[in-house]
Amino acid sequence: MAPKDYSAEKEKCKKFLQEFYSEDDNGKKVFKYGAQLVALAHREQVALHVDLDDVAVEDPELVESICENAKRYMGLFADSIHELLPEYRERDIVARDSLDVYIEHRLMMEQRGRDPADTRDARNQYPAELMRRFEVYFKTPGTSKPKVVRDVRADSIGHLVSVRGIVTRATEVKPMMAVATYTCDQCGAETYQPIQSPTFMPLIMCPGQECVTNKSGGRLYLQTRGSKFVKFQELRIQEHSDQVPVGNIPRSMAVYARGENTRVTQPGDHVAVTGVFLPLLRTGFKQAVQGLLSETYLEAHGITLMNKTEDDELGTGDLSEEEMREITADGFYEKLSGSIAPEIYGHEDVKKALLLLLVGGVQQAPKGMKIRGTINICLMGDPGVAKSQLLCYIDRLAPRSKLVFIDKWRV
Ligand SMILES: [Zn+2]
Repeated sequence: MAPKDYSAEKEKCKKFLQEFYSEDDNGKKVFKYGAQLVALAHREQVALHVDLDDVAVEDPELVESICENAKRYMGLFADSIHELLPEYRERDIVARDSLDVYIEHRLMMEQRGRDPADTRDARNQYPAELMRRFEVYFKTPGTSKPKVVRDVRADSIGHLVSVRGIVTRATEVKPMMAVATYTCDQCGAETYQPIQSPTFMPLIMCPGQECVTNKSGGRLYLQTRGSKFVKFQELRIQEHSDQVPVGNIPRSMAVYARGENTRVTQPGDHVAVTGVFLPLLRTGFKQAVQGLLSETYLEAHGITLMNKTEDDELGTGDLSEEEMREITADGFYEKLSGSIAPEIYGHEDVKKALLLLLVGGVQQAPKGMKIRGTINICLMGDPGVAKSQLLCYIDRLAPRSKLVFIDKWRV
């Protein structure tokens, strides 16, 4: 296969953003992305969601390329928007924060000290990540169904995938450095270092023209104020209980949310996450320890709350009166406990205990304070008597349960 001409692909992205329109009720053209570009140019909008259904209308081939190489195309779209924005700027923008002021200032300095014959864009000298204040995300086409965590495998690396699950953990939102800015103690020049991985090696020596020629050995100092930070949050999503085959432990996946995708969900939420499935590349010592193995994560492009509880999923319609009577007639307790892990024979007492664990728990309210009741259970026994299987069953049934295995008791 011939290598792709990415500059031609970029033109396609640009063309799509500029020319895509839909007609409203009066037959008037509505430029969906054009309008958003105006908002981006005036810093009234931060995230631009490119709906792949819209792209499909113009260029189905492009959609395929985007789904297979999402990170690259995100860059192409970002480049296109970066180039288009000055055209969409209708008025002077008011600086929103200190980074805006910095950017403006840098552009001004660049304009001042520049050769009039030089027609190059002033923004070129700075890393694109530093000058951009927008984010680009893709929205998967409506035809693609969200996958189960265990179905996202190596063949999905680099692809745009959509995964359904329950959020089990969410870290705090913290700033993550996207571009490190250094100043030199000799010549005062600024040096920029875009950062892509979770760790980075700080620059030490000044690469500035003046310092290199004079061999003055200028040292670089990291300056936090001029650096760019993005909001960052790590999430962990787990499969729904109905997606786990019997006898298996639910699998989970790390999701990295940046910028506008942070603070969207909380643990316990049911979500569909669209993102790029990527290997986590570490550098230096960590990679050496890890050897050839690599962890994976999903770089979030969109997080949708499903607004659905576990009950809806299992399809609990109301029972009719007759059904109710039939169930509660005699031996209600035994029937319920017997339906826990029906594939395991016997262990009636254990099953009863587990049932009481599920529905029980004494509410404790000492001095008006609310404390969760005792809802823990500990199973001990000989190996191979289905302790883990029974507990796994409960774990699947109760979405926020936590299972701990303590193996190899040494007394
Ligand atoms: Zn220097």
